[in-house]
Amino acid sequence: MNYCPDCGDQTFLKNIPNDRLPRNVCQGCDQIHYENPKIIVGSLPVINNSVLLCKRDIHPSIGMWTIPSGFMELGESLEDGARREALEEANLTFEIIKLYGNYSIPEIGQVLFVFLVNILNKDYAPMDETSEVQLFNIDNIPWSRIAFPSVEFFLKNYVQDHKSNNLRFHSNFNPKHSNSTT
Ligand SMILES: [Zn+2]
Repeated sequence: MNYCPDCGDQTFLKNIPNDRLPRNVCQGCDQIHYENPKIIVGSLPVINNSVLLCKRDIHPSIGMWTIPSGFMELGESLEDGARREALEEANLTFEIIKLYGNYSIPEIGQVLFVFLVNILNKDYAPMDETSEVQLFNIDNIPWSRIAFPSVEFFLKNYVQDHKSNNLRFHSNFNPKHSNSTT
């Protein structure tokens, strides 16, 4: 941040007593502008022994397969955001089975939350940012063409959970409850 969103004056990094990190402070109005991680919300849509994936039509990872997901908007619940992204990218409607996990990427200040969802409609289709929407049997997932490590993380866990008939909650920073072999 270089300019104050309130008054437009310049901001500078300043150490504030009793705060762990330097903060952006406006030299005009003295406002402290905190910067916090962004939330991405997605859904892992399933039906019978298949998962629904979207082929990305945008950079990065164009042409690779992902799940419907995107940045939450202000005014949305986590559930609202997941539903909106599924509609926008795949014309998909669903019922939520459970909040399936979270995936933290502290290096870039992002946290992804993923719902496991049952596919409700049959007329899902490629929409914004998507060139194809396809069901994949869990034994036939295109592992070498998955867009992001986070998507691979949830898909791998789902295949394992589905086969063991035990849907757990997964977190990439909590391996004890995640992709363990126990
Ligand atoms: Zn200001």
